[in-house]
Amino acid sequence: MPLVFVILGRQGSGKGTQAALIVERYGLIHISTGDMLRNAVEAGTDLGLQAKTIMDAGELVGDDIINSIVAERLEQPDIQTHGVLLDGFPRTTTQADALARILQKDGPNLAINLNVPIEEVTRRMLDRGRGDDTAEAIARRLELYETQTAPLLTWFQNNGCLQVIDGRGSEQEVFARLVKIINNTYDDIMG
Ligand code: AMP
Repeated sequence: MPLVFVILGRQGSGKGTQAALIVERYGLIHISTGDMLRNAVEAGTDLGLQAKTIMDAGELVGDDIINSIVAERLEQPDIQTHGVLLDGFPRTTTQADALARILQKDGPNLAINLNVPIEEVTRRMLDRGRGDDTAEAIARRLELYETQTAPLLTWFQNNGCLQVIDGRGSEQEVFARLVKIINNTYDDIMG
């Protein structure tokens, strides 16, 4: 059974940056549903055409669509060999239930919530100025995070895999906190 890690955090929490550092250090495969969707938009596929308007508005793409693209990706042999870091998925408890079904186990080995307060993520996102980062879309994504994604924290907590990390400070400070938690998880798994 491959290792399955999940990283969660508000948009602008630095989870993309930290995810890249984690996969580099631990050799996991990085799956970002946001990147998959942005690539589909760029390539002009049917999925991309469906997703673009939703993403520009800061809404969530439907659970069925997301669950099926993730299920398909997790079937690839590289995941079985290297394990996976899921970034941006699951985003809802429905997606978490789907993940458990796909994995045929209770949940991931570890779910990390990178915690950064709303005021700070809003400032960071306006500074980075990505195409889908209008003030309205940012506000909507943060609202959805509170309503849809926060219940996920309870889901992971009940599952016993949740770890909350302070996402404030420099990239290296935050990464050092993550490494500590991830090493503990490896120690637990390897006995
Ligand atoms: P992200 O890069 O993770 O912030 O994702 C960018 C956008 O892609 C989000 O605002 C959603 O519109 C969409 N998206 C990414 N992952 C998911 C997901 N797991 N469920 C629904 N929509 C998603």
